[in-house]
Amino acid sequence: MASHSTTTSNSIKTSSLTQVDVELFAQWLQESDQTCMFTGAGMSTESGIPDFRSPGGYWSKNTPIDFNDYIQSEELRKVAWSRVFESSLNLGEAEPNKGHDIISVWFEMGLVQSVITQNIDNLHQKSGISPANVIELHGNGCHAKCLNCGHIYPFSELEPSYRETGTVPPCAQKRGQNICSGIIKTATISFGQPMPEDEMDSATRETSQCDLFVVLGSSLVVYPAASFPEMAKKRGAKLIILNREPTGLDGYADLVFNGEIGETLSRVNEAVKNRHQK
Ligand code: NAD
Repeated sequence: MASHSTTTSNSIKTSSLTQVDVELFAQWLQESDQTCMFTGAGMSTESGIPDFRSPGGYWSKNTPIDFNDYIQSEELRKVAWSRVFESSLNLGEAEPNKGHDIISVWFEMGLVQSVITQNIDNLHQKSGISPANVIELHGNGCHAKCLNCGHIYPFSELEPSYRETGTVPPCAQKRGQNICSGIIKTATISFGQPMPEDEMDSATRETSQCDLFVVLGSSLVVYPAASFPEMAKKRGAKLIILNREPTGLDGYADLVFNGEIGETLSRVNEAVKNRHQK
């Protein structure tokens, strides 16, 4: 059974997910001039992509490779490419779920202005939101990028080399008289890799400007990404957290739903539609 907590000054009330709370979520969405959605791995579990921390999941069997280790070790680069080309987890084949679709509809209705995501699965864009409105803090795992010149490589372009050699060759782009020769890597931000400056700036701007900030499916333990909900609240925005399990910021939020994203957003969406019809 889904449950929620609300904060009143410093106290937290917890009760089952009631229609009153669903209506309040819908009301705040409609009253807000600038709403920012902040999504984590829990946003995409209903699309069949496991989240990071569930026991026995994909990530516990595929330990993340640190950025510096990737740069220094040809062997670890081979491991990383085998995860791209041999894994049963194919991000490119995943489809947006009910939750993604509802956010996309709210975007079209003008109820949501930006999405900051920790996800690398491209599903917000696939649900119809313009890439310009999706801020990817941890990059995109559906293509690769040269770490030297930034050239984007679709995986399909790299796969023949991988099948022949078990790895991916250095960047072959011409730079004047020279060949780039930079190391190619999936376009994600690995542990130990600097955060992308433009995306961090955009996320800071959207967080500072919004008056409603909604966290969906994040354990809020990965920093600096998890600092954005705190920043939004400090700058005066209302904070809603919707996550299956409690997070460390629940006591700080104005409204907390511990439930499933698809089911909860569907209920909020019904309330939004009812308000529109009145
Ligand atoms: P996390 O795994 O730490 O936390 C996900 C949270 O979502 C958990 O607390 C879980 O209880 C909750 N959850 C799972 N399914 C849910 C559902 N259907 N409804 C409501 N809540 C649900 O994820 P994080 O905070 O995003 O951090 C993990 C890092 O790993 C991210 O930075 C991301 O880059 C990466 N990652 C990305 C993907 C992806 O792109 N889909 C998947 C796994 C990991």
